[in-house]
Amino acid sequence: MKLPPAGPGGLVPLAPALTIDTTRSSHLVRASPARRPNREDIPVAKRTRPARPRRGGGGLGLILGCLLVCTGSLVAVMIGPQLLGRLGPSSSLEIPEFSERPDADGRLLGHFPYMEATPDQLVSVEPGIELHIDAAEALRSMMQAAAADGVDLRVISGYRSLDLQESIFFDIASERNQTAEERAQVSAPPGYSEHSTGYAVDLGDGTAPETNLSQTFEETPGFRWLQDHAARYHFVLSFPERNDQGVMYEPWHWRFEGSSEALRMFESARRFAFRSQTGS
Ligand SMILES: [Zn+2]
Repeated sequence: MKLPPAGPGGLVPLAPALTIDTTRSSHLVRASPARRPNREDIPVAKRTRPARPRRGGGGLGLILGCLLVCTGSLVAVMIGPQLLGRLGPSSSLEIPEFSERPDADGRLLGHFPYMEATPDQLVSVEPGIELHIDAAEALRSMMQAAAADGVDLRVISGYRSLDLQESIFFDIASERNQTAEERAQVSAPPGYSEHSTGYAVDLGDGTAPETNLSQTFEETPGFRWLQDHAARYHFVLSFPERNDQGVMYEPWHWRFEGSSEALRMFESARRFAFRSQTGS
């Protein structure tokens, strides 16, 4: 089985829901200062009611209660992440201007549905730009390392709320007289953007700002440095050239996969990335 080039303490593919913070111990990225409750675990704990009050019945009731709790936990642990990570946005989000419906794998015009980061998960990385705290710390380390190598990486965009993504998507589409389907080639529909998770970042090269958000970014020292080093900080290119996911090549758009939560979030998208690497 192939592992991403993140070193021995790096990525754990297909991390099961029960292994929490497996990647936090990475010696490469000291991503997180403290253990925080895993989001998926909270509903599990809440759904798992304690056994019914004992009414002197003793044995049988206790056993049945335990059985109920264990089964409930197992089901919640197995199903919870999928519900939270995938079905949530697509089942709750209606995009009226779309004639398209999500595919069987949840993709809408090539883009996977994503949960929006909560305010307590976000920290500022630049004035006006926020990221998920785990991604922000890894990004800081990566940018320091780049600067030490004489490379001037710049953060162009990070977390985007659903509202912002919606206005970007529909306003620009109408400005450019594009249909939603055409627009989806270059921008994710609201509810389907990696930027909503707080784990995705658009990067530029300070010495070549004219290449910002352009495929010519791939010719900059910044991009070449990222190709060589980003994996050490658990950043991967989301939409490589000729990706099977069907999204336009975006050399500037990188996502963080250095925590178990982020890994789970991008599990479906990762399968496409691996397929395009091995299938070409
Ligand atoms: Zn982006």
